[in-house]
Amino acid sequence: MSENTLFQKIIAREIPAAILYEDESCIAFTDINPQAPLHALVVPIKPIPKIIDATAADEPLLGHLMAVAAQIAREAGYGDGFRLVINNGADAGQTVFHVHIHVLAGRLLQWPPG
Ligand code: AMP
Repeated sequence: MSENTLFQKIIAREIPAAILYEDESCIAFTDINPQAPLHALVVPIKPIPKIIDATAADEPLLGHLMAVAAQIAREAGYGDGFRLVINNGADAGQTVFHVHIHVLAGRLLQWPPG
């Protein structure tokens, strides 16, 4: 498992990010290439590469990430309409191999996604 994912560098403050939230198990910051007026990423401190790599022991952590993601949307004023996305693997568009939840809100979100 890489110790040098881009998101680990953000966690370590080796590269800058607009941090929205942080606690002992996760960090959230604004996506550098936002796809909506709110586009945050919620990232566990633990560098799980993909959601498929998560184990049963990670379930409380994954639940916490979801709760933090919803709280970020709520606090930004989008409690009534937001989308959470996890891309798993390159074929699904994953580019950073450190699990993260995208929080998207602030525009009409079409379905199905691309
Ligand atoms: P994914 O394609 O699901 O792996 O999502 C990775 C996300 O990380 C993309 O939406 C990128 O725009 C975002 N990203 C890449 N580099 C940075 C960075 N330095 N700070 C914040 N977000 C980033």
